Amino acid sequence: MVSSASHLLLIKGRAADTTGAVDDVRLTLLGTSHAWPIPEPGCGCDQCSASRDDAKKRRTRSGLFIQTPAGNALLDAGPDVWQQFEREGIAPQVERVVISHHHDDHVLGLRDLCYAWRERPGPLPVHCGPVTERRIRATFGGLLREGRELITFVPWHAGAVVDLGPVRIEGFETHHRDDEPTTAFLIHVERAGGAARIAYATDMGTALPSPRERLEDLDLFIGDGTYLGAPGFGHPGTDRCVEIARTLRAQAVAITHVGHWRADPDTVRQALPVGVAICRDGDDVLALLP
Ligand SMILES: [Zn+2]
Ligand SMILES: [Zn+2]
Ligand SMILES: [Zn+2]
Repeated sequence: MVSSASHLLLIKGRAADTTGAVDDVRLTLLGTSHAWPIPEPGCGCDQCSASRDDAKKRRTRSGLFIQTPAGNALLDAGPDVWQQFEREGIAPQVERVVISHHHDDHVLGLRDLCYAWRERPGPLPVHCGPVTERRIRATFGGLLREGRELITFVPWHAGAVVDLGPVRIEGFETHHRDDEPTTAFLIHVERAGGAARIAYATDMGTALPSPRERLEDLDLFIGDGTYLGAPGFGHPGTDRCVEIARTLRAQAVAITHVGHWRADPDTVRQALPVGVAICRDGDDVLALLP
């Protein structure tokens, strides 16, 4: 895949660092919801009502788009991907997708993604584990017709790496469910303002992610907020998520994969410990760094 600055079609413009230099690395949270978007149809809870009144409080399924002069990568391809690129004003010229695991909210956008960039020079590289590959093959047979493949698979697992020059993405295990290892993302960023280490783990169990030694002393831990407070099936709850981040001595914590909390996140935010943020769709991850 050819990668060049010309692929960096960033309609909204580029961030400037404090010295005034252009910083071409951008990490955009396309979606920050759990398995379903917020608001939920027909629901009048405080969270859904607040998100109808304020578009910035609406949430779509998980996705993080990383742009660098050396290429780009989309982490997870949820079913809202088409609208997410349109909303952010980013051309959907995705050069590779890395999938954390096989659940619907992380893979169902692949078909749209393959058609969003019609002049793509070759099949879309999809980095994923074997269970996810089987799931994609079963769901999107039309993308894999012999001789017309729109997808090509690349193995992804804990310790695997995608190198985008100033951004390096490494897999780690989050113990989300037993049916397939969920391989979240440790992101090393070199930028004008200095290097940063960020963990991005939308779906986690209650156990510490591993390998622990790779995840200690992070600048930012972006973790699983499917359930507010206590754990639920396959997810740690926000209390345990923050505890895990603190155990790993992360300097800052941000909650994503936000579930149907039924409370306005603005109200919840006031009750969170200092240094814990709640992500919103469209957030610039580098702006969440301490
Ligand atoms: Zn609701
Ligand atoms: Zn999941
Ligand atoms: Zn999920």
